[in-house]
Amino acid sequence: MKCTVVGMWGGFPKKNEPTSGYLVEKNGFSILLDAGSGVAAHVQNYIDLNNLHHIFLTHYHYDHSVDIGSFLFGRMISTQLGKVDKTLNFYGPDDKGVKDQVNKVKNSTFHPYGRDSTFKIGPFSITFHKNAHSVETYAMRVTDDEGHVLVYTADTSYRKSLVRFAEDADVLISECSLYAGEDGEKMGHMNAEEVGGLAAKAGVKRLILSHLPHYGNLDDLAASAKAAGGENVSLAKAGMVIEV
Ligand SMILES: [Zn+2]
Ligand SMILES: [Zn+2]
Repeated sequence: MKCTVVGMWGGFPKKNEPTSGYLVEKNGFSILLDAGSGVAAHVQNYIDLNNLHHIFLTHYHYDHSVDIGSFLFGRMISTQLGKVDKTLNFYGPDDKGVKDQVNKVKNSTFHPYGRDSTFKIGPFSITFHKNAHSVETYAMRVTDDEGHVLVYTADTSYRKSLVRFAEDADVLISECSLYAGEDGEKMGHMNAEEVGGLAAKAGVKRLILSHLPHYGNLDDLAASAKAAGGENVSLAKAGMVIEV
């Protein structure tokens, strides 16, 4: 499968660089992981909105979900114009507000999920891990029909259970909101040492650092993750294509 980083900043977008959004594609099927600020605009560099029918939301913080409205209005207007007749499916933690927001727009449907859910979409199978964050949040494990595995942590403090969830992944896209020595547990996020340790213990083949902070020298994140045992570490960049 191919994963394109649409955006990867934590909290708020940079100029022309959105917050979280990852487009995963194989054999003509596409799923989007998260819909943060700027993702609806920038994902169109890679796919026509009328060909994107599945959006998975890890949680409802703005930097992961604020573009729900843009995708809904896009589908509503394109439906009115007769450009698309397929349903736009949103998958997210159960939430009445989001469910009502999505379901009231024609041609859009909300599917709640929990820790035991599995979805199969074309070649993809998607499973979930309940994170430690300030609101209900899930990591996602995407396995394709050839057994290739992409794991996306979304936002979370370090938990041992993440090691099992990310085990043997070909690619781990991990949040890395904090520098080594900063307190991830208190913030509901992980620092670079924790992320490197997670990748090492899980035996992942490639580690991509995402949900990056707006301060400091980002290269220090990669150096700390490597020092903590991470293999093949790189920083996510808007537009980056990852072959999984
Ligand atoms: Zn976030
Ligand atoms: Zn968050």
